Amino acid sequence: MSDGFLPYGRQTIEEDDIAAVAQALRGDFLTTGPTVEAFETAFAEKVGAAHAVACSNGTASLHLAMLALGVGSGETCIVPSITFLATANCAAYVGAEVVFADVDPDSGLMTPRTLAEALSRAIGPVKAVLPVHLRGDVCDLPGLARLAAEAGAVLVEDAPHALGTTMDFGGGPERVGDCRHAAMASFSFHPVKAIATGEGGMLTTNDAALATRLRSLRSHGMTRPPGADPWVYEMAQPGFNYRLPDINCALGLSQLGKLDRFTGRRRRLTALYRARLAGLNAVALAESPAWSDPALHLLTVLIDFDALGVTRAEVMARLSAAGIGSQVHYIPVHTQPYWRARNGPLDLPGAQAWYDRCLSLPLYPAMQDGDVERVVAALESALGL
Ligand SMILES: *Cc1c(COP(=O)(O)O)cnc(C)c1O
Repeated sequence: MSDGFLPYGRQTIEEDDIAAVAQALRGDFLTTGPTVEAFETAFAEKVGAAHAVACSNGTASLHLAMLALGVGSGETCIVPSITFLATANCAAYVGAEVVFADVDPDSGLMTPRTLAEALSRAIGPVKAVLPVHLRGDVCDLPGLARLAAEAGAVLVEDAPHALGTTMDFGGGPERVGDCRHAAMASFSFHPVKAIATGEGGMLTTNDAALATRLRSLRSHGMTRPPGADPWVYEMAQPGFNYRLPDINCALGLSQLGKLDRFTGRRRRLTALYRARLAGLNAVALAESPAWSDPALHLLTVLIDFDALGVTRAEVMARLSAAGIGSQVHYIPVHTQPYWRARNGPLDLPGAQAWYDRCLSLPLYPAMQDGDVERVVAALESALGL
């Protein structure tokens, strides 16, 4: 058990990760070198997708996905309200409208029922549906994919929470990111996520044409026409500089080799939390759907603060005083001033019920088993249990 502050999440960087970065710094390529492709190839293999395209962060990867699909103004994207801002921002970047879907109040996930309701509010063609595998639990992808296809849209999974999660929809076990049910899946390597590259992102797809477009769009929209002179490049559409440097890819490759160990720790700590939280009054772990075998990114508990007569702010302050970090994932995005002004008022009771009760507790691979007892004992005390 550690005595120091336990944040809600943090990176695990070891000596060989540092050595991998040092080696990249001594090499010929700091960016656009061979380590980028090596990281992409290893990542694609790890999640079971045909292609992986690295980029500068998880927000850039969502933006690239919108660009590669050609989403634009007059078109609509469906985004669950319980997510990070970036899931909706990527649609705004390309001038598209966002219709916010409600979520299941006990898992925080968009469901076929909440997607169908959101589709009924969409004006104009729906181009993309962006399910978020909140906390690391996976949405009902076949159910969402069926509804999206009926609406003429594709799925883009916003999957940074679920790297390492496995799922089984009756067709055997598969990994999040394999894109069996979606056009693309997006990941982030921000320090709190499953593996860290400082900043970093990745898109996976099984569609070779999409992968080619993504690679071009992440580097200014440039393409090299086959057979052209060596200096020649062409640009059909302005792209961005969303490349991920070799330095970061070297770290990513090193971290990817540890993913199974990291997710094993997350699963073990989650099991300890589950057992320890089982007896607590008015506190429940967020629910995992039957098809999901999560490597949880966030250990989110749902607390009936009203029944216990405390506010969330008081509980978070007491936890912090006991050296324990906690966080709220997330403020419903549809209530943000920008979206309220743009879309008008909207009542999403599932998202509100989730938001009113959610609190994420520390979960990361370097936590010790004994830290779980320290966190839950502090939570009991903070709640007056
Ligand atoms: C982290 C995260 C992002 C953004 O990733 P960055 O790498 O920080 O840009 C997007 N969506 C979700 C659900 C995330 O958790």
